[in-house]
Amino acid sequence: MSYALTLNAGSSSLKFGLFALGADEPELSANGLADRVGGDARLTLKGADGTKLRDAVPIPAEGVVDHHEALVAALHELEDHFPGAQIDTVGHRVVHGGMDYSGPTVLSPAIIDKLSTLSPFAPLHQPHNLAGVRAAMAAFPQAVQVACFDTAFHRHHPFVNDVFALPREYYDKGVRRYGFHGLSYDYISGELARIAPDLHAGRVVVAHLGNGASMCGLRGGRSVASSMGFSALDGLPMGTRTGQLDPGIILYLLQQEGMSVEDIITLLYKKSGLLGLSGLSHDMRTLEASGSEGARQAIDYYTFRARRELGGLAAALEGLDGLVFCGGIGENSRLIRERICNGLHWIGIEIDDEANAANAPVISRPDARVKVMVIPTNEEIVIARACAALGVRGA
Ligand code: ADP
Repeated sequence: MSYALTLNAGSSSLKFGLFALGADEPELSANGLADRVGGDARLTLKGADGTKLRDAVPIPAEGVVDHHEALVAALHELEDHFPGAQIDTVGHRVVHGGMDYSGPTVLSPAIIDKLSTLSPFAPLHQPHNLAGVRAAMAAFPQAVQVACFDTAFHRHHPFVNDVFALPREYYDKGVRRYGFHGLSYDYISGELARIAPDLHAGRVVVAHLGNGASMCGLRGGRSVASSMGFSALDGLPMGTRTGQLDPGIILYLLQQEGMSVEDIITLLYKKSGLLGLSGLSHDMRTLEASGSEGARQAIDYYTFRARRELGGLAAALEGLDGLVFCGGIGENSRLIRERICNGLHWIGIEIDDEANAANAPVISRPDARVKVMVIPTNEEIVIARACAALGVRGA
């Protein structure tokens, strides 16, 4: 039996999944997380049914644990629980595929070099993703390495949704509206084709609301526009990221407040969004449970911006047939879905309170013009499918 390992290397974490590739659809055997990479990392491993096989065990290291050591620890655990599982393909989530990559790609040293040149476009993600690639190449020199890009799903946007009104030379250099969360949108588009083909054929906004958050307009299952642009900062406010911001504010921070570029990066990526506004937490559960004024205002802003963005995407789609919620907040927060939807009656969105409270697959009223769904996303399986298509198929 041939297996694929999926890897999602973040700045301080490594998520991994083990999939058997024999059948038509890759089958999850286990997945896990090494967190606090770059510090005193710990590893958690879960079986396919969600049972914890290992829970936050410290990863041994001389000093701080890097991505390579985290991967080696993950592989030891997998070998212990799935002895003899032969990993022939490793699939990587890579945030940026630049202008050229519009689908999963088998990696070669030349392609990795090319992807490294995109690091300035995604400095907080791309170098870590590529560190994961290098660690996997060292651990599995024989395996096929496949990159799955967050930008790829959006690469066919029309020009008006791909460009900024800067002098043309910047567009030619790659300063474009890339859009992210593409693996999640790819999965949701596939699920719509399977469970709601009418909707798949129509005009749908997908709201991926997790720690990062964006919205994507789909027509006929393909991305037409995204709330995220050149970087993963644009669009909706997020756990710690600003979302849409007047660029004049950055000039003000540089000129009047004398902030360094590093300080501004930290402010925009790590200290803003729900955390910055509430002064309390980046975590929606904490904000919902808190009665504080800051938490209330952060939720007000979050849901208002989501409605505004949805209105813009509906204009880009020239109408709206469906809305899909996914991501940790989208899949679980009755309150946030309600707060977003209740301001959107004018566009044909009306939700059923009981269905919404139950996180039901369909939460709109039967007679509402726009169908509203909750679909748990699954980025890992999208990577595993790419491994099955491009890597070594199991016998
Ligand atoms: P990531 O983008 O890191 O993958 P997730 O998709 O897991 O993150 O989303 C994390 C967010 O989901 C957090 O803000 C968390 O509070 C929120 N969340 C998870 N469960 C609930 C819930 N039951 N109610 C409200 N928010 C929730």
